[in-house]
Amino acid sequence: MEQLQQAEQLIDGYAKIHTIQVANAEIHQGHLVLINREHPIRQEVSTDRLLPLSSFPAIHTLSENMLLDRTCLQHLADLLEACEGINDIIAVSGYRTRMEQEQIYESSLAENGAEYTACYVALPNKSEHQTGLAVDVGKRNIDVDFIAPVFPDSGVYMTFKQLAAGYGFVQRYKEGKEAITHISCEPWHFRYVGYPHAAIMERNDWCLEEYIDQLRSFPYEDNHLVFEDERACVAIYYVPAAGEGTTTYTTAIPVVPCDRYTVSGNNSDGFIVTAYRDKGSQADV
Ligand SMILES: [Zn+2]
Repeated sequence: MEQLQQAEQLIDGYAKIHTIQVANAEIHQGHLVLINREHPIRQEVSTDRLLPLSSFPAIHTLSENMLLDRTCLQHLADLLEACEGINDIIAVSGYRTRMEQEQIYESSLAENGAEYTACYVALPNKSEHQTGLAVDVGKRNIDVDFIAPVFPDSGVYMTFKQLAAGYGFVQRYKEGKEAITHISCEPWHFRYVGYPHAAIMERNDWCLEEYIDQLRSFPYEDNHLVFEDERACVAIYYVPAAGEGTTTYTTAIPVVPCDRYTVSGNNSDGFIVTAYRDKGSQADV
């Protein structure tokens, strides 16, 4: 009883639940957007979200002027440093415009044929690369295959893979998930979804399609998906977009008491709230 009262007092130390109004068009933005055949790009990423890889001169890139989402790029730089792979790993492909994706698709069709292209190259407007949240990485070598770079299961490449989730990255197209993703296993393609989402996906062996679907069973009104590590306790829940259509409506998104939160659209039908309570703060009960 005493403990309970204490807990209540501490929770009262937080701001009460508040609500934010978000335009439904925002379901097409955020780090958790699902992009695939069924869920194409609906909104071009705004250029102020993108940052050139040249702002991290230590990162090797296959071509000049590569861009990535700024949060994704910062975490990629941290991951490359953590795995000590900065000299052995090359960034092969990052953000692509629709036109670039079209050109890649067309030239792969001509060079590699329809079957290969269907396995490894997403159709224009159905590629995650158009969000700036996906990066292809490869073994730094004289010959780097642009479509399917080599990314071994050993050494710094393995360490990169093992540490990726801690920096918010998942290997997006894994073996065994082809029936869901419709893309063959791509050991080189990493997608930024943010932490702890990447860790949760990894732990449960969920690809992004499965994770986005699972999140619908954690609505605001019911149990939230709770993730805890030594730094924070994180509550994750789903809020469906209100009304019909995504152009004129707004959705009232309730935000639970927390130290900080993020909201991402799922590019389909709603929003995902990620609410962090840092340990050592009021949440440390
Ligand atoms: Zn890729």
